[in-house]
Amino acid sequence: MTHPDELLALDRRHVWHPFTQAKTAPDSVLIRSGKGAVVYGADGKEYLDLVSSWWVNLHGHAHPYIADAIAEQAHKLEQVIFAGLTHEPAVRLAQRLTSLLPDDLNRVFYSDDGSTAVEVALKLALQYWRNLGRPERRRYLAFEGGYHGDTVGAMSVGVSSGFYAPFEDLLFEVDVLPFPETWEGDAAVAEKEDRCLSALEAYIDRRGDETAAAIIEPLVQGVGGMRMCRAEFLQALVQKLRAAGGLVIFDEVMTGFGRTGDLFACLKAGVTPDLICLSKGLTAGFLPLAATVCRDPIYEAFLDTGFDKAFAHGHSFTANPLGCAAGLASLDLLMKEETRARIAAIEARHRKHMARLAHHPKVTRPRVTGTIAALNVEVEDSGYAAAIGPRLKAFFLENGLLLRPLGEVIYFLPPYCISDSQLDRSYDTLERALTTLTPHM
Ligand SMILES: *Cc1c(COP(=O)(O)O)cnc(C)c1O
Repeated sequence: MTHPDELLALDRRHVWHPFTQAKTAPDSVLIRSGKGAVVYGADGKEYLDLVSSWWVNLHGHAHPYIADAIAEQAHKLEQVIFAGLTHEPAVRLAQRLTSLLPDDLNRVFYSDDGSTAVEVALKLALQYWRNLGRPERRRYLAFEGGYHGDTVGAMSVGVSSGFYAPFEDLLFEVDVLPFPETWEGDAAVAEKEDRCLSALEAYIDRRGDETAAAIIEPLVQGVGGMRMCRAEFLQALVQKLRAAGGLVIFDEVMTGFGRTGDLFACLKAGVTPDLICLSKGLTAGFLPLAATVCRDPIYEAFLDTGFDKAFAHGHSFTANPLGCAAGLASLDLLMKEETRARIAAIEARHRKHMARLAHHPKVTRPRVTGTIAALNVEVEDSGYAAAIGPRLKAFFLENGLLLRPLGEVIYFLPPYCISDSQLDRSYDTLERALTTLTPHM
C-alpha cells in the first residue's frame, strides 16, 4: 500500500478538487474506508459523515447489501448500449420509481448525475412545446437562491446562486422570482409567500404564454443555504403555474429518497410536478446515476412516425446496470420499516436540539425539514464565502465531524443509519463551536 504522505503529495501534484481554492485550502483528508455513518482517515481518525458525503449517502458507507448487489450485477452485465437494447435492472428500477411517485409520473429517462437530470428536464420541456406546435413557449422560470447543477443549462436556471460570474456570457436568459425562505417561529412567512405569489402573478400576466417551464427545489433549497419553504406555498405555486399552462419541474436531486421525511418532497407537499429530477440518493451514494421522470402526456408529445419529434439526447452510460442494481438495492433498504423509523427519529432529534439552540444568542433561523436541520450563525459577512465557514469546517474536522457549512449556514444532513447518540454528540460539538468560534468576531 502506498504511504499516506506519498498519496497526499501525489494528490497535491495531480488532482484538481471540486469547489476548492487549492492555494489556500488545507490539505485534503485521506480517507481509507467507511462503515455506517463514519469514514476512517488513513491516520486512523474517525469522521462522522453529517453531510452524507455531499448528500448522496442514504444507508451508510460501504453497505454490504448494496455492495453485494453491485458485485453480483457486475459479474452478469456491467454496461450495455441503451439505444435499441434494454436490461432488467433498468426496467425494474423504472417500474419501482414510478410506482413510488404520484399520479402519472410514469416515464423514466436515465442519465448520469443531478446536472444531467436537470438538463434533460429543461430540454424535454422546450421540445415538448415545440412538438405541440407552440415554439413561443421557450422561457424558463426559476427561483432566487435555487441551485440546479454546474452544466450550462443548469447554471442558467441557477444563476441567482452566485457561483457563475466567469460564465455569465454563456448563460441563457431566465426569469427569477423570489423564494419565501422560512424557519421556526417566522412570523412573516404568510406575508413573504403572498409577495412571492404576487410576483408570480405579475410574471404570468407578462410572460405566462412564453413560459416553457418553471424549475424549483421543492421544500428545501440545498446549495442556496438549506433554505426551506412551506408546502402551502408549493401548492399555490403549482396551481398558478398550471393555470398559466407552463410545465413544472421539481428538482428533487437533493430532496428525494427520504430527506424531507417523506419519500419525495412532492409527496410531502401533496403536489405533482410534470417532471421530476432525481439523482444523489438514487444509488444510496454508490454510483453516479440520475433519472428524469415525466408525466405520460409529455412522453406522448414525442411520439411520431418521423424522428424529428424524438428526444435526440443520450449519454454513454445511460441506465448503467450497476447503478440501476444499486438503486434497486437501496430502495429495498429505504422501504424497510426500520429505515422509515430512523428517518422519523432523526427528525425528532433535530427538533429537540433545534428547539434548545433557538435560544442561543449566536443562532438565527433554526429550521428542520425531515432529516435536514440547519441554522444561521450570526456574523458580519454572510454568504457562501463568509469568513466563518472555513473556521467552522476546520473546527468540526478537528472534532471528528464531517460538516461543510454553506457560509454562515451550518446544517446536518446525515445518512439514515446515524444513531441518536451520534446525533447528540454532533449537537454538543456544534454548541462548543458556537461558543469557541463566535466571540472573536
Ligand atoms: C447537487 C444538486 C444538483 C447537481 O447534481 P450533480 O450530481 O452535482 O450534478 C442539482 N440540483 C440539486 C437540487 C442539487 O442539490
